[in-house]
Amino acid sequence: MAFNSIAAIEAGGTKFICALFDNKHNLLCKTRIDTTTPANTLSQVLAFYNDLKQQGYTFDHLGLASFGPLDLNPSSPTFGNITKTPKPHWSDTPLASHLEEALEVTVHVDTDVNAAALAEAKWGAGKGCDVVVYITIGTGFGGGLVVNGQTVKGLVHPEMGHMRVKVPMGVKGHCPFHADCVEGLASGTSMQKIWGQSAQHLAPDHEAWDLQANIVGQFCHNLLMTLSPQRIILGGGVMQQSFLLKKIVEQTNKHVNGYLSLPENVSLHDIIVEPGLGTESGLKGALALVEHA
Ligand code: ADP
Ligand code: ZN
Repeated sequence: MAFNSIAAIEAGGTKFICALFDNKHNLLCKTRIDTTTPANTLSQVLAFYNDLKQQGYTFDHLGLASFGPLDLNPSSPTFGNITKTPKPHWSDTPLASHLEEALEVTVHVDTDVNAAALAEAKWGAGKGCDVVVYITIGTGFGGGLVVNGQTVKGLVHPEMGHMRVKVPMGVKGHCPFHADCVEGLASGTSMQKIWGQSAQHLAPDHEAWDLQANIVGQFCHNLLMTLSPQRIILGGGVMQQSFLLKKIVEQTNKHVNGYLSLPENVSLHDIIVEPGLGTESGLKGALALVEHA
């Protein structure tokens, strides 16, 4: 084989998507592995890539876009580990180092949402922008941030889903740590707990969507005021409700209340947008981590 391929994994709380790309970023193959226990899931991941090696594919680099929290401090002895997570079995899993040793590759690791933000900034809805936020509203509620082409890690890494917001009377959030954070109010899981049915079954005129747009609108307002992003890209399963984006932009507008001086011919509809890469932001994110390195 003339060229090395690139391995890319989107490691999620529900599923691991494992893929191999050629050096022009064409997808060569892809598989889905359920996230069960680390031993079970990772042995299937290794089997997938070892089988590809047997077929003659070669790859030296693996991009790993993972659910967290992660240790992303390169000088830490536990760099690339999942740290303390409420997800059963996965606390303190040495994810990156295990893959690195078992597959004899260099692993490039970041959070799933930082990686998605990087892919969107390189190839998607954030192309040409200095400050790009990517939000997933799915099982959880998380955000990644790219500034001038670099994902932001800092102290730990951003945990935007735990931003606290003003909650209407009578509504209770479901985060075990905060009664009033965005994840506890607006993730798909929290919506299910608040309304007793999953988000995909809530009718478009259900009051759930007014609360959702209000909470996510406050969140977007806070992001606009702290980070000055040119794009806030909203992805994840809950955003598949096609009417929701417009409702969120309208609520954000209401919270901003005319304060921001936007460039001429730019409105919040140009800033708060859907992913340019569709549902591929996470996997392309893993690829982007390798390309970036
Ligand atoms: P994950 O976060 O595990 O990667 P998803 O982004 O698909 O997966 O998020 C799953 C959550 O999104 C669930 O809570 C589900 O209720 C919700 N969801 C999935 N599809 C839809 C849909 N079409 N409309 C509204 N909510 C959805
Ligand atoms: Zn919280």
